[in-house]
Amino acid sequence: MICPVCKGNCIRAAEEVLGDVETRYLSCSRCPPEPNLSKSISGRLLPPKVERCPSCGRAALDAVMLDALRLLQSFGLRDKDDGLRSVGSPLIDVGYPLAYSPRLSRGSLILVGERYSAEAAEAMVRDIPEIKGVIQSCGVPGVVDPKRKPLKNLLLAGCDLRADVVSSLMGELVVCKRQSLIHIEFPRDNAPKMRILEELYFQGKLRDVADGLCGPGTLGLMCVLAGAQRVVFNDAWLPAVEDLLVNLEVNRGLLGIEEIELIESPQGMVGSDPVLLARARGACQIEVYHGDLCRLFSRARPAGLCLIDHFPGKDTRALQQACRCCKETVIV
Ligand SMILES: [Zn+2]
Ligand SMILES: [Zn+2]
Repeated sequence: MICPVCKGNCIRAAEEVLGDVETRYLSCSRCPPEPNLSKSISGRLLPPKVERCPSCGRAALDAVMLDALRLLQSFGLRDKDDGLRSVGSPLIDVGYPLAYSPRLSRGSLILVGERYSAEAAEAMVRDIPEIKGVIQSCGVPGVVDPKRKPLKNLLLAGCDLRADVVSSLMGELVVCKRQSLIHIEFPRDNAPKMRILEELYFQGKLRDVADGLCGPGTLGLMCVLAGAQRVVFNDAWLPAVEDLLVNLEVNRGLLGIEEIELIESPQGMVGSDPVLLARARGACQIEVYHGDLCRLFSRARPAGLCLIDHFPGKDTRALQQACRCCKETVIV
């Protein structure tokens, strides 16, 4: 599968991602010890560089962040007293809850932060082998408030496609996302939502499901994995639905998908009247809509269970009202 961002082969099938995630970030027997650099002290007190492992070639996370700090300093974007914390937030390319600091291989880290420049970002991707992409952060991407223009973070260089491993009692899935366009969730953020899904699963309610604000598809895909007969996905934010289409392909084998059929073309980045973008057939009937959830069920057949996973703290009354044609609505 071709990556929509870098046009390379950075997207792997879910089976492959799940097959090596346990060992992906481990050190080898000859890796030098963890450098444990302080994140808060001045850059003047840090070494100029930390070497990679001569055997496996992997780098400690600190080594990569230190290289990024030195590079930003050379571009005049950080001063001599700025430390590692000023560099930004590191995101590993396969999101997985780790109990240890990761050892990084080529192209396995995406950096999100502020005060970068396009030139410095290009240099980071070119000269620091572990860095896959650099994102200038602007806030939470997506349609947070329908009345305001959606925010986008800016991909300055490289590729921002990441894969998160999502687990529940129903099994494991891989959820890819273009991280400059989809809000950042850490593996632990998904856990409470998975507990809610597990509860619904044991009540036998994951049969005919709508994932009303689906994002890249985490909840609805888990319902497919749990054996649902029909899952309707919907989101107003086009990049989210596009990433969901990638995820149907990535998880095709795990979800028993036989055929994915593209139906209609999207109308703009933020959808209003629901458009049926795609249908997938196989173990489960899948429909993918791009549009405003308030109007979804004027087009799609109402579901037995409608899941609404909104941005935290947002008022969901209007959405619940619009989805009352479904047998049950659950705010996740
Ligand atoms: Zn890519
Ligand atoms: Zn090593």
